[in-house]
Amino acid sequence: MRCKFCGTDPDPVVLVPNVEKRKDGQIEIFSCLDCAIKQGIYCEKHDSPHTGFSGDETTACLRCIEEEVQTKKEAAEEVYARICGTLPQEELDELKEFAEDSSVITGDDESVSVFRFVMTTAHRLKLPWDQVVVMTLERRSAQLILPSPF
Ligand SMILES: [Zn+2]
Ligand SMILES: [Zn+2]
Repeated sequence: MRCKFCGTDPDPVVLVPNVEKRKDGQIEIFSCLDCAIKQGIYCEKHDSPHTGFSGDETTACLRCIEEEVQTKKEAAEEVYARICGTLPQEELDELKEFAEDSSVITGDDESVSVFRFVMTTAHRLKLPWDQVVVMTLERRSAQLILPSPF
């Protein structure tokens, strides 16, 4: 096993999402810890590799997302109300379907599920979550925040 980035035989070895997966089809690759941190695909706070997402090269630490959801979820209802008041019905129908499915798993309100979608997009794009809300409202589209399978 060699680090995909620097070619050394790493110790410890870290299994990280392949940010170039569209090129060679591999979902995860081996990396040394230094390279993983340098590539921005390892969370030092949680001592854990990022998760990759299908469809693009973005990665995020799921525990960082969840922490921010939990500390800020009092904003969830207002965010959900603004999205519901702005987006066209067909966009809302799609978003609500995803939110319902997510709420079945998490036991959270749909508003918290949508807030979690917003937070996930924010971490993947490395943007503040409120900017993701603004972008969603401006585009009148839920596409930016609809979850993609891992
Ligand atoms: Zn390396
Ligand atoms: Zn983290």
